[in-house]
Amino acid sequence: MARVAVVTGGTRGIGAATALALREAGYRVAVTFVGSVEASAEFANRHGLSAYRWSVTDYEACVKGIAQIEADLGPVEVLVNNAGITRDAMFHKMTPEAWHQVIDTNLTGVFNMTHQVWGGMRERGFGRVINISSINGQKGQIGQVNYSAAKAGLIGFTKALAQEGARFGITVNTICPGYVATEMVRAVPEQVLQKIVDQIPVGRLGEPEEIARCVTFLASDEAGFITGSTLTANGGQYLV
Ligand code: NDP
Repeated sequence: MARVAVVTGGTRGIGAATALALREAGYRVAVTFVGSVEASAEFANRHGLSAYRWSVTDYEACVKGIAQIEADLGPVEVLVNNAGITRDAMFHKMTPEAWHQVIDTNLTGVFNMTHQVWGGMRERGFGRVINISSINGQKGQIGQVNYSAAKAGLIGFTKALAQEGARFGITVNTICPGYVATEMVRAVPEQVLQKIVDQIPVGRLGEPEEIARCVTFLASDEAGFITGSTLTANGGQYLV
């Protein structure tokens, strides 16, 4: 039976490319989203994916949502924690609300989701948890204290949980994309974006499909020896 994979924020951008790549690789894929039902349902229907709407910030909604996916498709064996937001501001202007929204979505959301699938993965002796962090969690970014903190937090989350999962056949890894051509990056002002591209040695933004291929590799049986790692995919912009 094909494995079940869940991609949070899987109807747009990197998440959508990941969902399609996993489906192509033979998984049964559920995608989650939080915004417009029409847009996400249209994407899911067009590609034959199952789509579910709830916020990863809501623990109880995650409990119910994962239970529904498991009832519909079967036990979740691959979880891609991709959902993420930005609420950028210089620190002296950053509101507590902007801080909490980003931490709640990008970091606590990963706890909320992973907690639902972890017990089953331990029992079955197999699992893949793949967390989408960011280059800006590695190097820090002006105007993104909240985002950089959340994304750096994911790297620690991954390293700690990888050690807990290892003897149960569960791997936990982080991917740190550089700048990728999605709506999140298109929201960056044109001149700022050009300056960013000038700093990328390969001379271009990444494509969502390039991150999706990192995910399908880490999800595969062949990647079983890789856990607790940080896979950097940033066109050479920041070398760790
Ligand atoms: P997009 O803004 O294109 O898409 C974000 C997705 O996350 C959407 O599907 C959105 O759902 C979903 N989402 C947001 N908040 C929630 C929530 N509370 N609950 C459930 N789903 C939610 O983002 P990208 O594709 O650009 O980014 C994907 C991930 O990659 C993010 O974690 C981002 O931080 C990270 N990243 C992106 C980079 C880039 O250059 N693009 C670089 C480095 C990291 P909906 O469609 O319903 O709004």
